[in-house]
Amino acid sequence: MKLEDLYRQVIMDHYKNPRNKGLIDDEKYKQIHLHNPSCGDDIIIEVELENNIIKDVRQDGKGCSICCSSASVMSETLKGKTVEEAKQIIADFFDMIQGNEINEAEEEALGEALAYKGVAKFPARIKCATLAWKACEKAIDGDNDE
Ligand code: ZN
Repeated sequence: MKLEDLYRQVIMDHYKNPRNKGLIDDEKYKQIHLHNPSCGDDIIIEVELENNIIKDVRQDGKGCSICCSSASVMSETLKGKTVEEAKQIIADFFDMIQGNEINEAEEEALGEALAYKGVAKFPARIKCATLAWKACEKAIDGDNDE
């Protein structure tokens, strides 16, 4: 199987079977709502932090397959990580999406999120792929909605 086909399969799987979907209305969760006007993507991310660890990530919203699947992949990738690890992975994801080289260890930490590598070739879709990751970063930093 070609790598591109594998990546497409990961994206479609997370689009059709989103992980950690649905919000939990609880003050333990920091909630961030982000909108991508150029595509119409609308995403809400909830993060529960405990002792500097991302204990839980929830995601909900609507949008294109790139955006919604990426929110699902993000939730799986960052859950259980420390705040520092998560920030590094998010930064590496942004690097990769912008077409910058990342090293093998960074690729390994990204895991299924590597499926979005090809998005670098489609600048109009970069916002779609990064929206949920930006929301999670804001939630970790304790920022508020834009
Ligand atoms: Zn989109």
